[in-house]
Amino acid sequence: MDLKNKHIVVVGLGRSGVSVAKFLVSRECSVTVTDTRGPEELQAVLPELYALGVSIELGRHESGTFEDADLIVLSPGVPHTIGPVARAKAKGVPVIGEIELAYRFLHTPILAITGTNGKSTATELLGEMLRLSGFNVLTGGNLGTPLIEFIDHQNGVDFIVAEISSFQLDTIDRFRPHVSVILNITDDHLERYADFDDYARSKARIFANQESGDVCVINAADPAILAVSGKMPAVKFAFNCTQMVDNRAWIDGQTLWFHTPDDGNQPVDCSDIPLKGRHNLENAAAAGLAALAAGGTMAGINGALKIFQGLHHRVEYVDTRDGVAFVDDSKATNVDAVVRALESFSGPVVLIMGGRDKGGSYERLKSQMARCVKQVIVMGEAAEKIASVVKDTVPVVRAGDMREAVALAAETAVSGDTVLLSPACSSFDMYTSYAHRGDDFVRSIAQLTGR
Ligand code: ADP
Repeated sequence: MDLKNKHIVVVGLGRSGVSVAKFLVSRECSVTVTDTRGPEELQAVLPELYALGVSIELGRHESGTFEDADLIVLSPGVPHTIGPVARAKAKGVPVIGEIELAYRFLHTPILAITGTNGKSTATELLGEMLRLSGFNVLTGGNLGTPLIEFIDHQNGVDFIVAEISSFQLDTIDRFRPHVSVILNITDDHLERYADFDDYARSKARIFANQESGDVCVINAADPAILAVSGKMPAVKFAFNCTQMVDNRAWIDGQTLWFHTPDDGNQPVDCSDIPLKGRHNLENAAAAGLAALAAGGTMAGINGALKIFQGLHHRVEYVDTRDGVAFVDDSKATNVDAVVRALESFSGPVVLIMGGRDKGGSYERLKSQMARCVKQVIVMGEAAEKIASVVKDTVPVVRAGDMREAVALAAETAVSGDTVLLSPACSSFDMYTSYAHRGDDFVRSIAQLTGR
């Protein structure tokens, strides 16, 4: 891709947008960056952008800016359907995302992981499995370092392991990972997609450009994945953690089995895996198969599974007070993540939920709630919507903020119970991120008095 002297518009000034602007300037492009947020909200990145000498258009999107570009690079936070982008596209201006741009300059094989939930966990696991197999690996993408930042650091790197969201897949063109992984597809982001099928099709783009020498790892227990992954040129590596069927990885009792190319079927003892819950066995199976597809070893896979303790804010134990365990699952921003978190508890749970609604249904929570939840505490914009769905299944109370939610939970819980923050919603109604919300939960626990 020849970028020299091209005029390129970068839309959205999150971390990847700023990295793209820097990269383009280093490639001698003329760059305009634009964001609908105003300067007061972008104070943190403005000095860097001024120093780059790019044109800056904030607080609005001018159609002319988009239509005059040689290329538009969209950030994942900006829907590719917005008016100025659609109009520029109609006039023939190419529109891609950061992943596609990075791909054109990366010569290192990419292993790409998508799915509604588990992407970050599986990405970190896979990176560790390959490192312990003796490879030099970079991990990044949707979480951590944007791929564009890897372009000038590829020397001696064997693989790039990339977490890829559906928003990022919406703006690929030729992006072709050597190994792709789809962990699961369940309701999420329905505020941005026309419907569930539209969202599922977006996920399926991860293998759209793969060829016969490539591998696609799929969860064969997920009907939505089976529906979109019928025919593909890539070799399918399927795993199934719900029943013992003829797959490349499966669960039999307490053993996770992998079918390896050279040594037949190899066991991993699940009691050696510190990660909790069946969903994490799915992440382990998917990451293990991707590692095997890239030449990773069972020693590397076993080693990573033994040491990996999980990421912050994903069903993360915080503290025990008077026999009540507090667990932070702030990253559970959709219903399936909450269902999976609840599945991993047997005893009574006091559940704190709510935040910004994402357009899906909360109905699926009811059976797990009936099994193990003694009270739900709702907060944030979605409080009433959640309460109206679950109130006949479980007692519901409302809290104005996290501090009140934690105090109410602590009043209800008795020794042996778990207080779980697992919101099923995004955090943006009250917080800047899921991590900010999880930190507030942890702080509120520390502020509890008399426990
Ligand atoms: P992502 O990067 O896709 O958001 P994370 O690994 O950050 O995934 O986990 C997000 C949430 O989903 C957490 O609440 C976590 O416990 C839950 N989760 C992790 N893996 C899975 C899975 N395979 N299926 C369902 N939920 C999962």
